[in-house]
Amino acid sequence: MQLRQLFDRGSSTYTYLLASDGEAVLIDPVYEQHARDAALVRELGVTLVSTLDTHAHADHVTGAWLMKNALGSRIGVEAATGAQGMDDALEDGARVAFGSRELLVRSTPGHTDGCLTFILDDESMAFTGDCLMIRGAGRTDFQQGSAAALFRSIKDVIFALPETCLIYPGHDYSGRTVTTVDEERRHNPRVGGNANETDFVGYMNNLGLPHPKQIAIAVPANLQCGKPEEPPTPAQCDAWGPVVRSYANLPEIDPEWVGRHLDDVELLDVREASELNDEELGHIAGARHIPIGELAARASELPKGRPIVVVCRSGKRSAQGTVILRRAGLTSVANLKGGMINWAALSLPIER
Ligand code: FE
Repeated sequence: MQLRQLFDRGSSTYTYLLASDGEAVLIDPVYEQHARDAALVRELGVTLVSTLDTHAHADHVTGAWLMKNALGSRIGVEAATGAQGMDDALEDGARVAFGSRELLVRSTPGHTDGCLTFILDDESMAFTGDCLMIRGAGRTDFQQGSAAALFRSIKDVIFALPETCLIYPGHDYSGRTVTTVDEERRHNPRVGGNANETDFVGYMNNLGLPHPKQIAIAVPANLQCGKPEEPPTPAQCDAWGPVVRSYANLPEIDPEWVGRHLDDVELLDVREASELNDEELGHIAGARHIPIGELAARASELPKGRPIVVVCRSGKRSAQGTVILRRAGLTSVANLKGGMINWAALSLPIER
C-alpha cells in the first residue's frame, strides 16, 4: 500500500492519499489543494474511488466535490451530518474498500458530534481527524463538541488499538507528522498517563482558543461537500488552453493540442542554437529561439498578449523556462509536455 501525507499550509491540514492495486482513497482533501491532489492521483496512475471526510470541518472547505467533478470519485461523509451531495453515508462499522485494502469506519465523536476515525484493515494505522492529535486533541467548544464524549472516543476506540498503530491526525500546527497509540497513551498531555475524564474535561474546557476564522464559510460549504456556488472555471491565466498543473506545480500542455493550435500560441524553443537542427528532433516551424541561459534577460522580447508554449529537448529546461517567464510577469505560459522527444514520437510536424 502507498501512503502520501499532504499538507495545506493555510489551515495546517493533513490530507492522506492511500493507494492499493491501482485504487486510492483521499482522506480530508482541502479545496484549495485540489490541483495538487489531482496531479498526484494522475501521476501515480491510480483511480480515486472515494474521498472521505473525518468531519464537517470548521477551518477549511473540503475538496470532495472538486475531486468528484474532476475524477468521478465518490463522496463519503459521516451520515448524520446530512451533507448535500454525499454518495456514501458513513456510519460506525462501515468499510471502505480500495484495491485489496479496506478502511474500517469508527465513530469517534467529541470534537464535533459527527467525527469519524478511519482504521486500516490490519490496524497498523489510523486516521483520527481532529479526535486524537499529536500530543493534543481536537477542541470541543463548538459544533456540538463534548469533551466527555471525546474522552470516551479516545480511550475506548483509539487507545484500544495496538500500541504500535500509527496515528495520522487531521492537523498539526508544529510540523509533527505521525505518532503511535503507545506514545499518546503515555505522553499526551491532555489524555495520556493517568488522566481521567475529569482531568481531560477540565483541560479541554479551559483552552481559551480564539473562534475559528473560517467557521462561518467552511461549515456551510462542507455541508454541500465543498460544491462551489458557481461552477469552477480554469484560473484566468490558464483559460487559453488545457494547461494542467503537475504535482511539481509546473504548468504543462499536451503536445497534440498545441499541434492543432499552432496559430494561436507563441512557441519558444529554449535549447542551444546547435540543437535546433538536430537530425532526429529538428525544431517546430515558426518557433522563436531564446536559449534558456538568456531567457531571464530577454523575456521582454516576447509578446505580451499571446500564450507562450516553451519547448526544449525533453521538457526539463523548458519547465524551468516557464518558471523564468512567470517570474518576469508573463502569466499565460505552459511547458510542452515531454519536449521535442514527445513531439517527434507523436509524429507532429518537424522542420530540420
Ligand atoms: Fe475540525
